[in-house]
Amino acid sequence: MRDRPADFRSDTVTRPTQPMRAAIANAVVGDDVFSDDPTVIELQEATAEVLGKEAALYVPSGTMSNQTAIRCHCRPGDELICEVGSHIYNYEQGGYAQLSGVAVRAVEGDFGVLRLDQLQGLIRPDNEHLVQTRLVCLENTHNRGAGRVQPYPIVEAICAWAHENRLATHLDGARLFNAVVATGIPARDWAKHFDTVSVCFSKGLGAPVGSALAGPKDLIARARRHRKVFGGGMRQAGIIAAGAIYALRNHVERLADDHKNAKRLADGVRKIDGLCLRPDQVDTNIVIFEVDRGFGSASQFNARLEEKGVWMIAFGPQLIRACTHLDVSERDVERALEVLAETAGHFSRHGKPAAIKDQAYV
Ligand SMILES: *Cc1c(COP(=O)(O)O)cnc(C)c1O
Repeated sequence: MRDRPADFRSDTVTRPTQPMRAAIANAVVGDDVFSDDPTVIELQEATAEVLGKEAALYVPSGTMSNQTAIRCHCRPGDELICEVGSHIYNYEQGGYAQLSGVAVRAVEGDFGVLRLDQLQGLIRPDNEHLVQTRLVCLENTHNRGAGRVQPYPIVEAICAWAHENRLATHLDGARLFNAVVATGIPARDWAKHFDTVSVCFSKGLGAPVGSALAGPKDLIARARRHRKVFGGGMRQAGIIAAGAIYALRNHVERLADDHKNAKRLADGVRKIDGLCLRPDQVDTNIVIFEVDRGFGSASQFNARLEEKGVWMIAFGPQLIRACTHLDVSERDVERALEVLAETAGHFSRHGKPAAIKDQAYV
């Protein structure tokens, strides 16, 4: 095994580059709970500008950003509609219920893509037995949909329908910039259909910490209150915001390299017997494939990859997810393909290895 693994577990594993570290070292800071941190203010203004929104709020994580948005849009006893594989529904501990008393109507899409006709008819009538439908959340790109870019006309149609019916709209855009680079559609065009948009700096953009929630000024002022009670009021946060500013200015265009690497990885996986892309289409930086049951479970297969210095994650009983990012090179992709082919060959010859505890994932 080499010292440095080829780490495809997530696009969150990137470490700050030297120039990003220099920006962090030189950051001018203040106390952001007093709104005194010039670097945080600069990041918030730059994010609002890129997304074409009045204001933005820097928060420690994408989870806090989504949950703060839900708290702003909904009251206890309200319901939000989202896709069944979405991060909000699966990977945030049901925060909408724990923190905001909100129920969810989860609808199954096609690898994360909902159609308008699936949502029409889901708005609850005004009746005291029922929760009140208040919010529609979409995810772009879609994580469990293998980085699928939402088709633009669908986003347009679903949001127009939501607003006609006086529902609020929120975009979980943890990987929105991947969608921007993959389609050439500017972030503000994606964002204009939504009341609020969350973006992450610590995924593909490669910053160490943080996300932002963008939207109308009055809503972001309320979001600031909620951020405080959720524990997200940070002091000299300019230290980390400086990394996010650097990422926003320098690491968006290069996402195209991650997309190329993901396509290379997918092309290789297609040629390996016993592995099958789910879905076959790779739009951005995430590749999900199914492992033949004859090879054991995804965790068992994954454990063999890990021994050989290729790190991916089990994403379901038979599913493995691989993300490309700033710290994955073309050479890492080649190495991953060699190890995948070797491992598939090993299992074809030797059958199932001993059981290994299933990995959970985010
Ligand atoms: C990673 C991610 C988030 C937020 O994650 P944090 O780890 O809380 O920053 C939200 N939505 C999606 C789709 C994600 O992939």
